[in-house]
Amino acid sequence: MGYSHLFGPVLSRRLGRSLGVDLVPYKVCTFDCVYCEVGHTTAKTLQRQEFFPPSGIEEELKRFFSTNPVLDYVTLSGSGEPTLSLSLGRVIGFIKTHFPVYPLAVLTNASLLWDRHVQEELLASDVVLPTLSTVDEEIFQRIHRPSPGIYLGKILEGLREFRAVYRGEIWVEVFLIPGVNMDRDHLAALGDEIGRIRPDRVQLNTLDRPGTEPWVRPATPQELQDAARMLGLASAESIHPAASHGHRGDASPDPASVIVEMISRRPCTIGDISQATGLHRQEVGKLLRTLSGDPRMKTRRGERGIFYSWAGD
Ligand code: SF4
Repeated sequence: MGYSHLFGPVLSRRLGRSLGVDLVPYKVCTFDCVYCEVGHTTAKTLQRQEFFPPSGIEEELKRFFSTNPVLDYVTLSGSGEPTLSLSLGRVIGFIKTHFPVYPLAVLTNASLLWDRHVQEELLASDVVLPTLSTVDEEIFQRIHRPSPGIYLGKILEGLREFRAVYRGEIWVEVFLIPGVNMDRDHLAALGDEIGRIRPDRVQLNTLDRPGTEPWVRPATPQELQDAARMLGLASAESIHPAASHGHRGDASPDPASVIVEMISRRPCTIGDISQATGLHRQEVGKLLRTLSGDPRMKTRRGERGIFYSWAGD
């Protein structure tokens, strides 16, 4: 039996071998980032909800952990913003109570960190990885296209407040987009702001797969190195190129080739591919749609659903 709320384990350079736990449906998010590699946000909202009964997520966790898997982290992430889920605190508590040996990380876009409930619910986690890519409201709106009612000032305030109450580690992700947030003065101001938050680590990220907007291009390794210097933070490290941007699985720098390799060996369903690669089912579907333009891609309906195969050259 497969899983609806768990994906992976995936191999992520940020977190090592990590089991993803998805608390929100596909692309329910507070942002609609221009670089989002999962696709356009379909439900942009600030409203926290219990999207799924938490007992179902807990059942899946029990089943998964009954095999004593080797993991570096259990990670609340997925294809949307996990702090939107009202089950956040309960699921964190469940994991830390029943499987305390596994470190627990939460990937967040930081948009709700000002909310006292969210802050409290996160307290039992071991690492929180918020994104902070700008200190300029105009750039913030341009990059993240947030839900109405979200402003950068509130996010910065939330990050500072959270740092004051949280005893776990905070690893800030800075997502760099050439021509948008990589100007020298901007990076110096961003470095100052991040310094005030006092994170344990700062990770520089850039586009690794096609983003939502075609004009977004990845920073080169040299640009990332320069940006690290301009930020002026000794702790800044680059996670380019096989990086995992927060809210999704990450199994390979070139997931399309991995899929082609898999389905040229034997026909697979979306579920098979998702299970083997750690990619979210929606993401696998998106990649398969892209590949379907190639005449070598074949499909066939079988007992378990549609099987994809690849005819060799
Ligand atoms: S990158 Fe993350 S925060 Fe931005 S739209 Fe995608 S899922 Fe939401």
